[in-house]
Amino acid sequence: MRTHTTLQRETVTQARDVERLVAGTATSDGAGVKLTRVLTHGLQRRLDPYLMLDAFGTDNPDDYIGGFPDHPHRGFETVTYMIAGRMRHRDSAGNEGLLQNGGVQWMTAGSGVVHSELPEQEDGRMEGFQLWLNLPSGDKMRTPWYRDIQSADIPELTTEAGVTARVIAGASHGVAGAMQREVTLPLYLDLHFEKAGDFTQTIPADHNAYVYVYRGALSINGVAVPEQRMAILKNTEGSDGVVLHAEGPTKALLIAGRPLNEPIAQYGPFVMNTNEQLYQAVEDFRAGKFAEIA
Ligand code: MN
Repeated sequence: MRTHTTLQRETVTQARDVERLVAGTATSDGAGVKLTRVLTHGLQRRLDPYLMLDAFGTDNPDDYIGGFPDHPHRGFETVTYMIAGRMRHRDSAGNEGLLQNGGVQWMTAGSGVVHSELPEQEDGRMEGFQLWLNLPSGDKMRTPWYRDIQSADIPELTTEAGVTARVIAGASHGVAGAMQREVTLPLYLDLHFEKAGDFTQTIPADHNAYVYVYRGALSINGVAVPEQRMAILKNTEGSDGVVLHAEGPTKALLIAGRPLNEPIAQYGPFVMNTNEQLYQAVEDFRAGKFAEIA
């Protein structure tokens, strides 16, 4: 665990309000993995550059044991954050890794990968999140890229108020996260409140931002955000960040990014800018131009 003790204060003078709460949709994906799609297709424009957020959490192996067998992606990045459990990843670029307790896998699908994500456990708890981050049009066909970030390599900080932030991407309180991206400038924080307290984070007003509470509850400018709810934060002109208030032990994701403002065309696991590019993706995949997994 990389813990930082010298922190810069995050100063917010006009905190964002909650625009609305979202409960998400129960669904299944892969070979019958049960999950809650929190950021759904209908929110892609509102939460640009993010395309999807899935939350999964279960003690029942029937809900996850099938995993996600071989499937393709093109045109964006997948960020998988494992809170509990073990998932084996293999892809057609020759990468293989084990994603486990507190670790993150960041995969840039770019021009196309075929991969599998399969549980490496037969019982016990499986819990985590998968986030899809869009790529700028000029990067959609870039060479695929992949990084496994072990839990110990995710920078952490603890504020004076006793709130611990795991900085997966972007920066908080002067601590740089494990990942940085130009253009979309993603901020991805996992916040752990051990008791009542506030957490302050600067966010530019034009960046889209949202909070997902996965334990406990928060309030944001007086609006309650219960467990398993996403709060979309208003992009009020002149606002400079957010203040999250917990009344007791709470865990939440705070995610933000700079919108691309480009057309979004999606067909399942392909996300491009035009329908023609989607036809091409399907054709390339069928023609075996996404390499098979060795
Ligand atoms: Mn996948």
